[in-house]
Parts: sequence; C-alpha cells; structure tokens
Amino acid sequence: MKTFFISHPDCLQHRAPSAHPECPERLDAIDDQLIRSGIEPWLRHREAPLVTREQLLRVHDAAYIDALEEGIPGPGRWATLDGGDTYVGEHSLQAAQRAAGAVVLGVDLVLENSTHTAFCSVRPPGHHAGRDYGMGFCLFNNVAVGAMHALEAHGLSRVAIVDFDVHHGNGTEDIVRDDPRLLFCSSFQHPFYPHTGADTRSDNVINLPLPRDTDGAALRAMVTERCLPALEAFDPDLIMISAGFDGHLEDDMANFRLVEADYEWLTRELHGIAQRHCDGRLVSVLEGGYALSALGRSVVAHLKVLTEE
Ligand SMILES: [Zn+2]
Repeated sequence: MKTFFISHPDCLQHRAPSAHPECPERLDAIDDQLIRSGIEPWLRHREAPLVTREQLLRVHDAAYIDALEEGIPGPGRWATLDGGDTYVGEHSLQAAQRAAGAVVLGVDLVLENSTHTAFCSVRPPGHHAGRDYGMGFCLFNNVAVGAMHALEAHGLSRVAIVDFDVHHGNGTEDIVRDDPRLLFCSSFQHPFYPHTGADTRSDNVINLPLPRDTDGAALRAMVTERCLPALEAFDPDLIMISAGFDGHLEDDMANFRLVEADYEWLTRELHGIAQRHCDGRLVSVLEGGYALSALGRSVVAHLKVLTEE
C-alpha cells in the first residue's frame, strides 16, 4: 500500500516572534527521518492546495474566518489569537489555508485511490480550533474540514475521527458534537490544557481522560476497551486521525510516557478497522509533537504501518 504524503513549503513560513515549540523545524525533523528510514519508496508526495472559503464554512463561522483574514499583521508584526501564545504573522493565513487544504486533498485522493492512505505533514495544527475561535497554536480545524468535505462533497455517511494527541481535541469536539454522521474519540492527559473533555455528554463523542504518567500499556487498555469497539460498531466509511505525538516520553510539553511502539500499535489498530470497514480509507493529520527527534521517529513508525498491506 502506498501513502500520499501531503505538505507545502508555505507551512514552514508560519512563525512566532521568538522561540516557540510549534516551529517550522518540526516539519524538517519529519522530513529528515523519512530520508533516514528508507520509507520514501512507499510515499507519494503531493503539494497541498489552498483550502476554499466554501470548505472552511462547513466548519467555521464566517465572522471568525473574516476576523482572521482581516487581522493578519504586516511584515515583522504579530497578533495573538487567544491572548496567549497562538501567534499569527504575515504568512500564517497562507500556512493555515495550506494545512486545511492538505486534508481536503488527502480525502479526495484516498477516496479516489482505494489502495492508498494519506498523511498530512502540516502546520499550524488544528484540533483546538472550534467553530468561532482559534487557540492552542491552531487556526483552522484541519481534520474537521476534511471530515466535513468527505460528508458534504463525497456523500459519505459516516466518518470517524480518532485523536491521540496528548491534549483534548476540544475544537474538534465543538464542531462535531451531536452530529450523528461523525464519531469522535479523543484520548488525552487530564487534568491538563485545555481543561475540557472530562464531562462531555454526547452520544458521538468518546473522551478518554487519562492521568499524567500514562504509559503505553494503560493507553492501549483504555483504547481497546472504549474506543475500538465503538469504532467497529460505528462502521465508518472513512477513518481520520488527529495524529499528535506530544504524548511521547521525550516530549516535555506534557507528561505521558508513550514511545514509538505505542504509536505503531495505535496506527495498526485503526488501520485494521479501516481495512475491515472502509476499504482501508484512512487520512491522518499531524497535530502536536514538539520533541523534534521523537516526533520524526514517531511519524515514521506511524507511516510504516500506514504503508503496510
Ligand atoms: Zn497536543
């Protein structure tokens, strides 16, 4: 099986005014590990298009999109979306449009090529962005834009989104909650930023709040008990992954103790469900992951499984 590897040089142009964990070097670290790993022959590289306004409007309020577009600062200046460290600079809108556009293209490619999966190596990430807000380094909700594109433009009936970033996918939950066409499963450290998800009551949201120091064995047990049976029962037409690798033992953004083998296991379980239920259709989207070496190695572990038959 081949995997479409979708990215764009514009995703490197989004920067903060000073040292920031969500940096362009993250994508370089992934590229470096791809070359080192020998996985390149199984990848098909594609450049991400710009997302369209119509595609964004399936997920975000017009007023939010307008405010983001109008608030883009001039050269050498920065604005912040959440009053904190979610920076927007002169190239940030273009990067965010490529990041969301990558996922739209990934959905198109996977639905047209049943022998392929897709991985979107993009930034800024997306899962903290809700209908009318950006936060947590996220501007547009990339994975949700892709999921809604699959439903609205391709006529799919059911799309599952699995989020294994160490932070709760609060923005994705905000967008998909109570839409029975979507099943959302998010595992995350709790209590922890963004302090949501522990008390959600919605039939299509499965949240797995887990304590600090959660290791691979504990995560696997919870996913096996709560997430995998729900995915099987949901019988999705497409599986999408919010692939955040900041739960890695070496990543000091949070306090999980996962290693590459755990991401490999997660990927294999989700890939297996995709193969049993939807001809292997799977689109994965980069979220967090800030320890550069661990990020690169984890993405390679993830991709090795996605390219398996
Ligand atoms: Zn995260």
